[in-house]
Amino acid sequence: MEIREQLYEGKAKKVFATDDPSLVLVDYKDDATAGNGAKKGTIRDKGVVNNRVTNHLMRMLMEKGIPTHLVEEIDDRRTLVKKVQIVPLEVIVRNVAAGSLAKRLGLPEGTKLDSTVLEYCYKDDALGDPMVNEYHIAAIHAATPEELRTIADYSFRINRYLSEYLAEVGIQLIDFKLEFGRLPDGTIVLADEISPDTCRFWDVKTGAHLDKDLFRRDLGGEEAAYQEVMSRLLGDQ
Ligand code: ADP
Ligand code: UDP
Repeated sequence: MEIREQLYEGKAKKVFATDDPSLVLVDYKDDATAGNGAKKGTIRDKGVVNNRVTNHLMRMLMEKGIPTHLVEEIDDRRTLVKKVQIVPLEVIVRNVAAGSLAKRLGLPEGTKLDSTVLEYCYKDDALGDPMVNEYHIAAIHAATPEELRTIADYSFRINRYLSEYLAEVGIQLIDFKLEFGRLPDGTIVLADEISPDTCRFWDVKTGAHLDKDLFRRDLGGEEAAYQEVMSRLLGDQ
């Protein structure tokens, strides 16, 4: 496999073309942003943790029958994935009230939700990723109703599989963000990442944050927390 030109540089990852037009290489950076880019910094070796944790969790999900973009981990920071057309939605899954939901509904952070909440945001940085519902999504053709049914079904299943898996290593899955993509034949697959940048992970025993909230809220200890998540999931691998 030969790496070709850079196609895109985002806030957390770079994407490169390869000699195979159906595959792209994702390169995870240590750069951290919060508040839609308002706060900037770095978290040492975040790129390594997010790359390895994402691939580990996607492999587990694939064994459970969830299709993903994952092809091959090239090294600590770089992974070959199927090139997809990203569905322009951030799918947020919530088990416990935190962050923007806690604020919006006036629920103390940590309040258990009696049923799983699914939210969609339209992926558009200039608009600040506004929340949308299934009617908006149909009206602006962000996804077809059938695609959205598949995305919702996968998202609930992913939540079950991830919550159970993380509980085994003492991590409570509070909420997380998913992105899906279309393969050339229209198949919907899970894309992007599943990492401490995109999930809220709380230590089951202490309630400590093991995720990007440490950075967003200036709490400190983010580097150690990211390493902790990786070592709980991957051990000495
Ligand atoms: P952002 O664009 O929000 O700054 P990143 O820095 O994570 O985010 O950039 C990675 C970009 O690559 C995102 O726009 C994401 O939607 C996109 N992406 C993720 N997986 C794939 C894939 N398999 N094929 C094409 N694009 C992808
Ligand atoms: N999230 C994300 N990217 C975003 C927005 C949210 O990965 O652009 C994740 C975030 O890490 C959390 C979940 O989605 O796990 C819910 O985030 P929330 O809406 O509470 O937003 P925040 O409080 O982070 O602004």
